[in-house]
Amino acid sequence: MKLSHVSESILREIEKFEIIDAHEHLPPESVRLSLKVDVFTLFSHYTRVDLISSGMPDEYWNKIHDPSIPLEERWRIFAPYLKMIKYGSYARPAFIAAKEIYGFDDINERNYKEISERIAAENTPGIYRRILREKCKIRVALTQQNRTDYDLDLLIPIMPLDTYAAVRSKKVIDDHASKLGWNIRSLNDYLDMVREGIERWRKVGVVGLKMSSHKYLPYNRSKAVALFDKIMHDGKELPFMNPLYCFLVEEILDIAADLNMVVAVHTGMWGDFRDLDPQHMIPIFGRHPKTRFDMYHLGIPYVREAIIIGKNFPNVWLNLCWCHIISQKLTCSALSEVIDLVPINKIIAFGGDYNIPVEKVYGHLVMAREDIAKVLGERVEEGLMTENEAIEVAKMWFYDNPKNLYQLKV
Ligand SMILES: [Zn+2]
Repeated sequence: MKLSHVSESILREIEKFEIIDAHEHLPPESVRLSLKVDVFTLFSHYTRVDLISSGMPDEYWNKIHDPSIPLEERWRIFAPYLKMIKYGSYARPAFIAAKEIYGFDDINERNYKEISERIAAENTPGIYRRILREKCKIRVALTQQNRTDYDLDLLIPIMPLDTYAAVRSKKVIDDHASKLGWNIRSLNDYLDMVREGIERWRKVGVVGLKMSSHKYLPYNRSKAVALFDKIMHDGKELPFMNPLYCFLVEEILDIAADLNMVVAVHTGMWGDFRDLDPQHMIPIFGRHPKTRFDMYHLGIPYVREAIIIGKNFPNVWLNLCWCHIISQKLTCSALSEVIDLVPINKIIAFGGDYNIPVEKVYGHLVMAREDIAKVLGERVEEGLMTENEAIEVAKMWFYDNPKNLYQLKV
């Protein structure tokens, strides 16, 4: 992206920063190493949405990621759709990774085989360190994959809050009880066990729990007790949204505060995104003032609503993870308003939000740095801050704020 002289100058400083990557879905490196990777690894994860949206049949998507099918055949069915998605923000990290990690100026008919060979050759032990630590300067990345077997030097886990809250049947309760060695007779027993389960996570390095901004039902203990007793006796399964689930979510939010863990909240974007409106969280944010919430994705498309929540609630931070690859333009215009509205200690600049394509974390980071430099550079040009102040703000967003929010020992 072409930037103004001032933004370029800010960008050069941002590129020297160590980064806290505040949200990924990266599994341990061994998982990546066990996979057969090729050019289509660069088009895994979010680009799926745009490929399918452009008209690619699901069956083609499955084929392009099936290494038993010859690469030529897969490229032949993929190429027409690449043309449709290549200018979008979801695709850009693939092109940045191809260029700056693998040394190819483009991804096309002439070089896809060579790119595939190069990606396979680089898929060796140390790839995470080489890309995340050395290329991206990431000090640590918070990652959520519903597992805790991480080294904690580079990757720090976040666990799903639903693990203990989404209790739809007796089987779920029995499974947790047998894993943790408990005998559960009542909802109070269950809550005591949940606290121990989350404490165990805390001891192995988990720093936060993750939930989504569903339309939760009002908190009601007596309805929750009645439902808990019912599932313990009649063996029936509850629907996803039910008063027991909503009660447990709110109890766990208080447990998180007691254990000094952050609660990350997915907002917006997926599927029928009306179900994930950040405004659903307003009563919950208000009822749990001691719980620190890290609200993800600026609630896209409910951006203004999310920003005002960040302004009005002292316990809610705004985390721009995923935003830069959803749309750089949208993120920049939102960020400009964010500076007007929200204290600078409440903003977290970056989370790659990728699982297998670790090289796209680098592409995403390049885009995040550009966005932050562009927006802060504009403030400098408008005479609203000095260049030094802009650099200080960027440092807080990329490093200090996530470090302080999650109380990371780095
Ligand atoms: Zn995510």
